[in-house]
Amino acid sequence: MAILVLGGAGYIGSHTVDRLIENGYDVAVVDNLVTGHRAAVNSQARFYEGDVRDKQFMNDVFDKENIEGVIHFAAFSVVPESMEKPLKYFDNNTGGMISLLEVMHDHDVKKIVFSSTAATYGEPKQIPIKETDPQVPTNPYGESKLAMEKIMHWSDVAYGIKFVALRYFNVAGAKSDGSIGEDHHPETHLVPIILQVAAGERDELTIFGDDYDTPDGTNVRDYVHVVDLADAHILALKYLQAGNDSDAFNLGSSTGFSNKQMLDAARDVTGKPIPAKMGPRRAGDPSTLIAASDKARKILGWKPQFDDVHEIIKTAWNWKQTHPKGYDDRKGNQ
Ligand code: NAD
Ligand code: UDP
Repeated sequence: MAILVLGGAGYIGSHTVDRLIENGYDVAVVDNLVTGHRAAVNSQARFYEGDVRDKQFMNDVFDKENIEGVIHFAAFSVVPESMEKPLKYFDNNTGGMISLLEVMHDHDVKKIVFSSTAATYGEPKQIPIKETDPQVPTNPYGESKLAMEKIMHWSDVAYGIKFVALRYFNVAGAKSDGSIGEDHHPETHLVPIILQVAAGERDELTIFGDDYDTPDGTNVRDYVHVVDLADAHILALKYLQAGNDSDAFNLGSSTGFSNKQMLDAARDVTGKPIPAKMGPRRAGDPSTLIAASDKARKILGWKPQFDDVHEIIKTAWNWKQTHPKGYDDRKGNQ
């Protein structure tokens, strides 16, 4: 039977498709390529271009494929854009989940692994953040994902569709051989932006705010390597295949790095000066996000291989240097 990966042409989705195939799974991918790249999808996966919200299209895919479980990455995920265009986020993210669960229910598919986010917690009351802590998002992106978690909960109660919500903290890095990596247009994430400055594509980095209540005044985040994250999805699938109940797991390293520390680490890794200046706060940014991730380690058996941001940045820098224009350097790019 096949695993259907929605958003499998995106950054995290493409690494997960790759790891699924390396682990012998039969994989089908749905992606509308709104932010993803056809060239990022492992050639052993069957690819269907279309929108998760298009029920006719999704019904056709579910009719063609013998689907055991779904991994759902397909969403918009840019915090500042969500502050300006909240309805775009509720439409694609939350609306997409409703269509998907309807199609899954109609086809009797009972397992879903879902990309949730630390943004569902909002400004935490305590660090590290536990799965049981209050979820009070500070931006529409986080709110759209929290709504998706709740919709899955009620679909479990009503239809027995079991889910694992994986709440990622900050994802970075690339496959070690540099064959796939992060390529967003425009890029908004810290690590690839720092590396664009290192590569001379941008003049300087702007750090968004140095007046937060943190040791050096800049935001603190918890970075996890994309391949470690991909592996957690396989463990979550196995957890559901073993007949376990729906649950949520944080995925992070349990260590925080400030934006200034990330800049210093990237200067070390690249050997480049990477000019930077301070700018105003970015709307919707919580001050510190660090995961308690012992639950995923204990229950899913997750053992991240990358525990040092230098190593994570090194893999992203390798991808950047071998693909200066991202997937534009590859045949079949979208
Ligand atoms: P991405 O934009 O690279 O990937 C998303 C993929 O989904 C893209 O290929 C896009 O074309 C596709 N897509 C979007 N809407 C679609 C739709 N309606 N129908 C079909 N395909 C659609 O993003 P990413 O960084 O790989 O993130 C993947 C998921 O992980 C997202 O759901 C995001 O919310 C979540 N997440 C990411 C991070 C991070 O640090 N990157 C952190 C927390 C959570
Ligand atoms: N950030 C920054 N300058 C940039 C991009 C990001 O200072 O050009 C900061 C951002 O304000 C946050 C951290 O880097 O404190 C991580 O942001 P990112 O968008 O990578 O991930 P998020 O934490 O929003 O999921």
